[in-house]
Amino acid sequence: MRGGRGIQYSCTRCFVKKFAVLIIIFALCISATAFTACKPKNSEPLTSYNLTAVYDEETRTLTGTADVDFYNAADNEICDLKFNLYGNAFRENSAFPPVSGTYENRAYYDGKNYGAMEISGVEGCAGWNVTGEDENVLCVNLPQPVYPGQRAQVTVSYTLRLAKINHRTGVTENCVNLGNFYPVLCAYSPEGFVECPYYSCGDPFLSETADYTVDLDVPEGYTAAASGLKISESSVDGRLKTRYRLQKARDFAIVLSKNFKTLKREVNGAEVCYYYTSDAAAEASLDAACKSFAYFCDTFGGYAYPTLSVVQTGFCYGGMEYPALTMISEGLSADDNIYTIVHENAHQWWYAMVGSNQLTCAWQDEGLAEYSSLMFFESEPGYGYTRAGLVGEATRSYRAYFSVFNQLNGNADTTMTRNLSSFSSDFEYTNITYNKGLLLFDYLRNALGDKKFKDCLKQYCGQFTGKIATEEDMVALFCESFKDAEGIFSAFTEGKILI
Ligand SMILES: [Zn+2]
Repeated sequence: MRGGRGIQYSCTRCFVKKFAVLIIIFALCISATAFTACKPKNSEPLTSYNLTAVYDEETRTLTGTADVDFYNAADNEICDLKFNLYGNAFRENSAFPPVSGTYENRAYYDGKNYGAMEISGVEGCAGWNVTGEDENVLCVNLPQPVYPGQRAQVTVSYTLRLAKINHRTGVTENCVNLGNFYPVLCAYSPEGFVECPYYSCGDPFLSETADYTVDLDVPEGYTAAASGLKISESSVDGRLKTRYRLQKARDFAIVLSKNFKTLKREVNGAEVCYYYTSDAAAEASLDAACKSFAYFCDTFGGYAYPTLSVVQTGFCYGGMEYPALTMISEGLSADDNIYTIVHENAHQWWYAMVGSNQLTCAWQDEGLAEYSSLMFFESEPGYGYTRAGLVGEATRSYRAYFSVFNQLNGNADTTMTRNLSSFSSDFEYTNITYNKGLLLFDYLRNALGDKKFKDCLKQYCGQFTGKIATEEDMVALFCESFKDAEGIFSAFTEGKILI
């Protein structure tokens, strides 16, 4: 995600630049009060989802079913399935509120209010319960174990009540944001299913790729921007019913609005569509989306999906990425809007296609999305950014963080590979993950030279699209081209390098 160059991460840079002083003051306040918040193989079959979702605008409720055809790609039998219920983080008194104090006013535009995700039933199971650290996980007991290479089918029925909030899941002033709108199967690791508490710092999501068919039913008058390709559409009794399909994706998201205007263009065989509510420079925004899309295709490798929806909506941070769909916050300046569009586009390669563990190693996709944005702007000097300028800005911001945290705490934790729960503020998260991440990749590029560096990124994309690449996978790949790469990675990630 992106805080907006200064807004939070999911992409944060914009706001950091403009509100650096305010952020530093805020960080001082937080620290002073000791605030401590915060593989599937390519050729293998995938899990598939058949989702239905019916939206009632009066009650701001989505009623849905998720038919999940689970494929066991692990090496052991599995007796229970676990699903992340991200929508439940929006309920009153959740242990992990979805937004930090810094962004609360920006998020709750109509005062504090709440939503929830409630499970009404599960078919095809021996039992189920809602569990997890924060009632954020649905555990489904299967009638019999699923062995490696076998499948199991369950149907989950649920309701998602939406808060009025500028966030991934909620009703905004102009739109309905349906990120994480269904129970999402947890990624499976050797230790079992990975449960994802909804940390307000970062993007607390981890999932494997799956195939999706989605039947959406909304009142007529709404336009839907969605992750997938539209297969069919019909109007029945005042309702608009649309079917979408998306393959090999690790999530599916939708944004609804009655106020969308659209611009679209075909780029490298995909349809890039810009949905916006208010943008005086909409053509320029679409242009940036298309140019960066083409640049990333050429530099990293072909795009994996038939469409990309770039969607302007109410969002408390700068932007947020989903496979084949990005949310871009309304109200950004023209420059921030373009920067955020480019950063979120880069996430189609580093998150949507090549997955990584965003809970424990956020720099892996955020640092690379930031550096990919730098590479694009370097190739398009008309946007007014330079490599030296962006590296300088990241360095200054990181040093400010280091200085502030040293003064307040006697030391600053400069390690990068750490759980989202270890970040004490959005300010710390942004500097460690985005700014130090960008500096790490610039250092690597200087060491490898431009050609080898780009070749490595292309290989990383080719080798890990559709999978979850570990930090070790990334380091090993760079080490094949440059034996000292491991030392560079560890100097940064273990906090041993002086910046
Ligand atoms: Zn991001």
